[in-house]
Amino acid sequence: MEKNQAEFHLHEYAPDEIIFAQGSEADYAYVIESGAVDIYVTDAEGEQVINTLRTGELFGEMGIVDNSPRTTSARAHTHVTLLQIHRQQITERIDSADPIVKSLLELLLTRSRAMLPEIADSDNGKSRNPILAQSQQQGISKFRLESELRNAISQGHIQTVFQPMLDLDSNKIAGCEALSRWDHPQQGMISPAKFITLAEETDLILDVGYLVFERACELLSQAGNIFVSVNVSARQLDNDDFFDHVLKLISHHSISAKQIKLEITETLVIDSVRAQQWISKCKAHGFQICADDFGTGHSGILQLAELDFDVLKIDQAFTRQMLDNKKAQIVLEGVVNMASSLGVTLVAEGIETIEQLTYLKQLGVNFGQGYWIGKAKKMSDFMQMLTD
Ligand code: C2E
Ligand code: CA
Ligand code: CA
Repeated sequence: MEKNQAEFHLHEYAPDEIIFAQGSEADYAYVIESGAVDIYVTDAEGEQVINTLRTGELFGEMGIVDNSPRTTSARAHTHVTLLQIHRQQITERIDSADPIVKSLLELLLTRSRAMLPEIADSDNGKSRNPILAQSQQQGISKFRLESELRNAISQGHIQTVFQPMLDLDSNKIAGCEALSRWDHPQQGMISPAKFITLAEETDLILDVGYLVFERACELLSQAGNIFVSVNVSARQLDNDDFFDHVLKLISHHSISAKQIKLEITETLVIDSVRAQQWISKCKAHGFQICADDFGTGHSGILQLAELDFDVLKIDQAFTRQMLDNKKAQIVLEGVVNMASSLGVTLVAEGIETIEQLTYLKQLGVNFGQGYWIGKAKKMSDFMQMLTD
């Protein structure tokens, strides 16, 4: 009997229960969370167990890698708990890898399939890998986190918080940056630093993005004349469905694309031709484009010359150093002059003291963001801050 433990798609099997049968379609791979699993083949002579796998091991991935029916069966040896890995989680990785990797994998699979009966003979049906290679373990824990993230998205555990941005001229809150948080039932709040990179490796970043845009539009429809900055990744910008979806959200909430600034991380802009295509597309739809973490990449100034950014967001590292570092001040002054000549709006992030705020204001920076102004907060608290 299969039981879904809701949280992370854990499935339990009683001893001798079949997990999958030889010849069936390969839809999932599995990580053994606890217990043992027999992998066996059935032929004219009957059944032969070729391997008994234990906690932490992955199985059922072969048919997924080369899109073929199962060549073995799997059955619970003891009571087992399994984590399901969706077919897509594996195929997305293979599809985005160098085609050579796929060929090599298929070659290896063909060979190991040809060896199946021999493995059974030589091991007398009882072999298992004593210690998984480190790389294999890393792969498995990544799959595990990814499965958890997939479920977190569908179960509403990915939340959006809003960090206020201050207009340094008028001293009023002019907008905010929408940031994602993972409210994990066991681990508490997980930082986006931990899960955004993972999401960016797969199409999960699209789902995270839809959630953020949905919340950003909701906020804008209630809050009136402010803007919301939303972080976007390359995979989102490359996806036409993404724009269609976001434009539908905007029209559904009767707001204007002008109120949304798309933040692109500068380190992501390696290929300036591709970047300019993104920027033109975003602008054609009415969005403003912000270069995030400006000054930390390799060619910030070159990109400033080549790309049509509306907003530059000066990285926190500058804000942190500028009061004690004369050179950082000179560089900042240069950036302010450049931005004003180019007609680009400037935002400074990571403002933690009133001294930093005052200095940036004197320098002519337009907007400020940081803990001194306010940490990221849930929508209702941000709305409260606006009315206060
Ligand atoms: P970022 O876009 O550079 O976001 C600013 C980060 O700096 C946020 O961290 C914010 O909470 C933090 N921060 C703000 N003010 C201060 C301050 O005064 N001092 C310090 N020490 N830190 C401050 P967070 O929320 O952990 O986000 C980390 C990164 O994750 C973001 O960096 C952004 O690149 C990415 N990210 C967050 N949410 C999303 C999302 O929904 N989609 C995408 N694609 N990326 C996201
Ligand atoms: Ca950002
Ligand atoms: Ca930033």
